[in-house]
Amino acid sequence: MLIAGNWKMFKGAHQAREFAAQITRLDDRSSGVDVVVCPPFVSLQATIQGLGEGSNVSVYAQNVHWELEGAFTGEVSAPMLLELGVKGAIVGHSERRQRFGETDDTVGQRAEAALEAGLAVIACVGETEADREAEETEAVLELQIGAIPEHERLVIAYEPVWAIGTGRTASSEIAQEAHAFIKSLHPTRVLYGGSVNAENARTLLSQPDVDGALVGGASLDAQSFEAICLAAAEIAGE
Ligand code: PEP
Repeated sequence: MLIAGNWKMFKGAHQAREFAAQITRLDDRSSGVDVVVCPPFVSLQATIQGLGEGSNVSVYAQNVHWELEGAFTGEVSAPMLLELGVKGAIVGHSERRQRFGETDDTVGQRAEAALEAGLAVIACVGETEADREAEETEAVLELQIGAIPEHERLVIAYEPVWAIGTGRTASSEIAQEAHAFIKSLHPTRVLYGGSVNAENARTLLSQPDVDGALVGGASLDAQSFEAICLAAAEIAGE
């Protein structure tokens, strides 16, 4: 089971350090769960420092570039992340795909480069509401997944775009069906993302093909993030 908190463009260095210091307590109670937090680039170092030595909470970035260095203003490379102690990166989040021109091709390149450098990867896929209404969900997922490499350090996050930040969680049936389909194409752990919170986490995480969650809004509050991690630990222990 893997629970990852995507902080999006929230928490500068000061807040990130404080939050990290609060969740180090999770170490003892989250056995069976890989816990990850994904702060903005500028808060990565403060988060790592706040967690302290020996924490079993890992820090991932929210994106990573495919080149090692070069004239790519605003981008950050895998070696730069590794130098800070970052363990992985999200690629292909729907906010990047929809608002910053990310394509299946660039998502694939980012994932390949991150894996080659030694980072873990959470690669996001998911259909829009229009795709689902047009019964194109499987076709869209197939295209997105076709661009994602297979690797032991890569997990996929199924994040239906209509469920992200909307409070409209996918039903556990929809999540299970999509996860089973994704696994038929790509043998990997599949996280669910889209309005997961402390109340609905248990039901979603209990589905046989749901291997964890990528959590946005509810990961910004230490108490609700902890509650989701503890629900995952209970299910992992069942
Ligand atoms: C996300 O940002 O990946 C996400 C799933 O957000 P939220 O949980 O807020 O829907």
